[in-house]
Amino acid sequence: MLDKPRINGGDPTATVDSFAVYNPSTGALVANVPNATEETLNAAVAAARAAFPAWAATPDGKRQEICRKIASILGDNAEELAHLLTQEQGKPLNGLGSRWEVGGAQAWASHTAELAIPSKVLQDDENGLITLERKPLGVVGSITPWNFPLMIAIWHIVPALRTGNTVVIKPSPNTPLTTLRMVELLNEVLPAGVLNIVTGDDKAVNLGALMSAHPDIRKIIFTGSCATGQKVMESAAATMKRLTLEMGGNDAGIVLPDADPAAIAEGLFWGAFINNGQTCAAMKRLYVHDSIHDAVCDALVAYARNIPVGDGLDENSILGPVQNRMQFEKLKRLVQSARQKGNVLLGGEPGEGLFFPPTIISGLENGDPLVDEEQFGPALPVIRYTDVEQALADANALETGLGGSIWSSDIKAARAMAARMECGSVWINKHGAIQPNAPFGGVKQSGLGVEFSEEGLFEYTDIQVVFS
Ligand code: NAD
Repeated sequence: MLDKPRINGGDPTATVDSFAVYNPSTGALVANVPNATEETLNAAVAAARAAFPAWAATPDGKRQEICRKIASILGDNAEELAHLLTQEQGKPLNGLGSRWEVGGAQAWASHTAELAIPSKVLQDDENGLITLERKPLGVVGSITPWNFPLMIAIWHIVPALRTGNTVVIKPSPNTPLTTLRMVELLNEVLPAGVLNIVTGDDKAVNLGALMSAHPDIRKIIFTGSCATGQKVMESAAATMKRLTLEMGGNDAGIVLPDADPAAIAEGLFWGAFINNGQTCAAMKRLYVHDSIHDAVCDALVAYARNIPVGDGLDENSILGPVQNRMQFEKLKRLVQSARQKGNVLLGGEPGEGLFFPPTIISGLENGDPLVDEEQFGPALPVIRYTDVEQALADANALETGLGGSIWSSDIKAARAMAARMECGSVWINKHGAIQPNAPFGGVKQSGLGVEFSEEGLFEYTDIQVVFS
């Protein structure tokens, strides 16, 4: 089914070309996908634009009901979506893999369906009534990455629809299949043109760039790398698009001297290696106090050794391959450079195909490429420190600021230190745990704006103040 053109919810549009999507575990072809042109994109935007007035005028309760249905559709089709996701992304069905991602998408859709933005009375007295209203923007363009393609698509789509916008979504060329299938399923309950999808290989035509400059798209919600996010911002300037940019990070974790190495090992591992480290807010640098450095490394390595890595469709796998060759080569380069200086405590050698074993390398410091660059893969640098203030300064030294964590037995002291980290989310004794009722976003060069909760919903609206 997926190799047939199925471009948008208005009218399915045929494309002349297609491109292939391969399974990162095996290299096998999964499906051919429509390769959209600028004309295809324009048709999708026109469909979304035409559908906007009626969708914006749809009673709030009706839109809420449809968003609830979206959540149920994800639940009803969870196994099909999870299998497709594993085949294109590589992540295992189990562990924090595809089934977990589909479950997360459903949970986010359910929570977002229940959110609402009531009109706010600013003044109501003998001088008049003044209210603050939040109005939908129009067509929202959603651009998604390849690491959590389904969940991130839902993070973009549901708040946009909930607030009365229509959507054109463009998934990553590496992982378009699950999003295509999901849009097809969601269009069973959405009016035609409200939710549209375009897919392309980013070669002759860069659909994301065209969307960022498109005069009929009012907002871009983008999740991806810092470099691409900056391009989106530049292209969006001429049309004054609203922007939410969720970009890369290089999150630090700081283990304080009073932490219990055995108790934190599992949390440290998953904080860093969730989705094979291919997670925006994964812990990508770990600073450990000299007094417990070796004990923390031993406990972490002991935990990591027992994680089964393999083909995602194997029910026993808990981690899969790296998703694509470009990311694999970047990881290989960073690990090779780290090996020359540091101590390889685990892994360190690339495996077969796109497999790369969980890798932990100590003896590194700020300035080393594996510490300074976002590896976005299963390799964690460990940095030994003696002065907590220096560790904090090193953690804050980079230009990114997505997440951070403090590991300690003293929660009060840890919270005080957490407040001094320069990042949008900070966790104590865990890392990367996000939830739909807590706003999430980056500071510094990690992004602009937030997603989730009422604050996230606001970003899909403009304010209008009515004076009477
Ligand atoms: P990427 O920036 O290469 O691609 C992201 C999307 O942008 C893709 O759909 C791509 O086709 C599109 N794109 C490419 N060129 C474009 C252009 N000129 N204009 C507009 N769009 C364009 O990122 P990726 O490699 O898919 O994802 C990995 C990165 O995403 C990492 O840096 C990671 O930290 C980040 N990320 C951030 C979050 C977050 O919430 N902050 C979440 C997931 C991933």
